[in-house]
Amino acid sequence: MISFHNIWKVYGKHAPALEDVSLKIEDGEFVSIVGRSGAGKSTLIKMLIGEEKPTKGRIVVGDYEVNKLKPKELPNFRRNIGIVFQDFKLIQTKNVYENIAFALEVEGRPQKEINDLVPRVLEMVGLTDKRYNFINELSGGEKQRVAIARAVIHHPSVMIADEPTGNLDDVNTAEIIRLILKINELGTTVILATHNRGVVDGLHRRVVSISAGKIASDEKKGKYIVF
Ligand code: ADP
Repeated sequence: MISFHNIWKVYGKHAPALEDVSLKIEDGEFVSIVGRSGAGKSTLIKMLIGEEKPTKGRIVVGDYEVNKLKPKELPNFRRNIGIVFQDFKLIQTKNVYENIAFALEVEGRPQKEINDLVPRVLEMVGLTDKRYNFINELSGGEKQRVAIARAVIHHPSVMIADEPTGNLDDVNTAEIIRLILKINELGTTVILATHNRGVVDGLHRRVVSISAGKIASDEKKGKYIVF
């Protein structure tokens, strides 16, 4: 379970980026967070992964009280979370296989385990044929599939996708959303942040909308409604 308890975030002397946000997400849920650019989606995600601390409030992810984690405790906590960004954040000098394997190598996993896990995740994201391609030899949709493979190779309990389709055309967007749905169906809690409501329309999953740092609506299933 993930819970935000009365979260406030104020950057410097600006108006609050988040204002008394409370939200509970059950294990295995697929929750989209929608809102215009500047609404506070990325701030919410940064709090969730411990990259920023709330000005006030508590964030609990499973057994962790994230707002209280010390920098040295963060890597261990983040092992439970797979994160995907709009700009992919892939390593250009490595091929597809190496980009994914690297996520395990940095944790010191045995080579035998890496040799076993990488082909399986490549198969799941449909990139077996492109495993030796370098990143600049891939389409945007393929790059995002590599990033997703890298995010889920640890079997995280939560996957966070921050504008994962922001650089993609409609066809690739639909493919990436289908892949994220598949990952959710395999048991991973998914949090998908996007400014593009079209991406989440028709998913028939929970949609939380944020407007100017506050929750404006929380639709359990189906259509996104503007308050
Ligand atoms: P979104 O992800 O929905 O586009 P953000 O969470 O990035 O929104 O931003 C919410 C608000 O907080 C915006 O007004 C933005 O300008 C402000 N903000 C975000 N990060 C910072 C920062 N590091 N310093 C100052 N203001 C920030």
